[in-house]
Amino acid sequence: MTVPSDFSPNADELLGNNREYARHYRDQDLELRPKRHLAIVACMDSRMDIFQMLGLAHGDAHVIRNAGGVVTDDVVRSLVLSQRLLGTREIILIHHTDCGLQKVSEDAFKAELEAEYGIKPRWSLECFSDPYSDVRQSMSRLQRVPYLTAKQNIRGFVYELADGLLHEVEPDPRHLNLSPSDLG
Ligand code: ZN
Repeated sequence: MTVPSDFSPNADELLGNNREYARHYRDQDLELRPKRHLAIVACMDSRMDIFQMLGLAHGDAHVIRNAGGVVTDDVVRSLVLSQRLLGTREIILIHHTDCGLQKVSEDAFKAELEAEYGIKPRWSLECFSDPYSDVRQSMSRLQRVPYLTAKQNIRGFVYELADGLLHEVEPDPRHLNLSPSDLG
């Protein structure tokens, strides 16, 4: 995708916005630990305002975002820290319809990079066709992380961009209530 010719960087304008924001700033006394003991993993899509869509306030929850809201090693890193050090006890996953990851092919994307730069990325793009099955996959991955202790409150949703509603996804029963020996 090419950058439009009328693009100009936003940072200076945003700094002005921030100075205005800081004039009314009232969050200095919020606790480091999220008040609702909640962590959310969501896609980075610019159309989803996680706090607004869930009616959350500053200080309520950790929000961990990446392309697709995929449970990667780095998401696990953040969640383990969130639970062990900062006391969260619930995880909510949010993927959505019309996601960028539904519109690319893993193999073609990587082949393109390799052809252009001579080196293939080590990471997986984690493309998917159905956001519902991808949320289920992410819930299953979380159930299999041995370092996460609070797994009884993991729920997953698909955000419908057509109407702004969240639709719940049932977990895969094969990855629930695992014994410690199942977890590697
Ligand atoms: Zn997305």
